[in-house]
Amino acid sequence: MRRATDYEEIRSGVRALCAQFPDEYFRKVDAERGYPSEFVAALTSAGWLAALIPEEYGGSGLNLAAASVIMEEINRSGGNSGACHGQMYVMNVLVRHGSEAQKREYLPRIARGELRMQSMAVTEPTTGTDTTKLKTMAVRHGDRYLVNGQKVWISRVRYSDLLVLLARTTPLAQVQRKSEGMSVFLVNLHDSVGKGLTLRSIPNMVNHETNELFFDNLEIPAENLIGEEGKGFKYILDGLNAERALIAAECIGDGYWFVERATKYANERVVFDRPIGRNQGVQFPIAEAHIEVEAASLMRFKACELYDAHQPCGAEANMAKYLAAKASWEAANVCLQTHGGFGFASEYDVERKFRETRLYQVAPISTNLILSYVAEHVLGLPRSF
Ligand SMILES: Cc1cc2nc3c(=O)[nH]c(=O)nc-3n(C[C@H](O)[C@H](O)[C@H](O)COP(=O)(O)OP(=O)(O)OC[C@H]3O[C@@H](n4cnc5c(N)ncnc54)[C@H](O)[C@@H]3O)c2cc1C
Repeated sequence: MRRATDYEEIRSGVRALCAQFPDEYFRKVDAERGYPSEFVAALTSAGWLAALIPEEYGGSGLNLAAASVIMEEINRSGGNSGACHGQMYVMNVLVRHGSEAQKREYLPRIARGELRMQSMAVTEPTTGTDTTKLKTMAVRHGDRYLVNGQKVWISRVRYSDLLVLLARTTPLAQVQRKSEGMSVFLVNLHDSVGKGLTLRSIPNMVNHETNELFFDNLEIPAENLIGEEGKGFKYILDGLNAERALIAAECIGDGYWFVERATKYANERVVFDRPIGRNQGVQFPIAEAHIEVEAASLMRFKACELYDAHQPCGAEANMAKYLAAKASWEAANVCLQTHGGFGFASEYDVERKFRETRLYQVAPISTNLILSYVAEHVLGLPRSF
């Protein structure tokens, strides 16, 4: 198994870039509910967001473990990968299932930073986690599909040129298995917004640009179908293991950030004439948080190793995401507690990172759904839903 030190070159490269964007930068973006455009542009021009694009299409063709280290370092530096991680997650659908023509048309331009593919639209308001019941329909009319329906929580749409859309092409009542009859499309947002696609922002707890989407006879050229019609759900599932491992890496980055900040503060803050970190009641929770982040990191590398070797990794990817999201959330609590009242002050950044890391217990998959995966698929317990 690869060790964390194997990626020192990537770590130092990403760290050096992130150092140009100090805490004040992300604090200001968060306060203004803005988008870190300069930061994302710098990551793009340095090639980090094209890590998973194969070299023949202009990317750096790195493996998932390396990509996970990039995401980890962004979050460990105090930044938030949520502004730009979409490209890494969505890439899998196009790289693995796109036609040669689609890959030649889009991937080199994405790698050069001319096009952004930051958004994927799966979740719907009435069906939530029960994805196979989604209601958005795409019906073929000659060389076009007409799309009608609604999506919710679709992120980075206003900072993306392309959106990957999952819609039903055969009604649920007409398929043998509920996972059949859904298809994936590449939607050019410039041709769509205001022309059949309406966006409505969802103000939310973190600075996460996310929207409701309303489709009213949106036309999509038939050539924008990715892979075969009706197989879209399989393509999305195929990318989820990579997504879980990358999210785990972001949580691990957050976890290290919280542990490092808590340690620094506990060493510096003097109360009752001694550093608060001299008290076991303060130092033990920080040590415990560190142990849990380290353990989650090992499971992340195990999942990535299996994925990169084209081995089944559903259990490991899910467990890595579970452990990492839990470890980062516990580290966040410890960091806040260690800072006492100052943990609540925006200028310490703890409250911002605390809000940001909380999201990963819910999205892109909630903790309960991971537990049910492990119960059913790893342990052989009865399916619960
Ligand atoms: C900031 C943000 C950004 C997002 N970005 C995107 C995006 O870009 N694209 C996209 O497609 N989606 C996105 N999502 C949606 C996200 O993936 C969903 O919120 C998440 O999958 C949970 O779905 P839900 O909100 O509909 O919850 P629900 O499915 O309504 O579930 C609510 C709660 O009930 C629990 N629950 C439901 N069923 C069961 C069961 N059978 N057993 C046990 N517990 C159960 C869940 O675990 C959850 O805690 C985003 C969400 C947020 C908050």
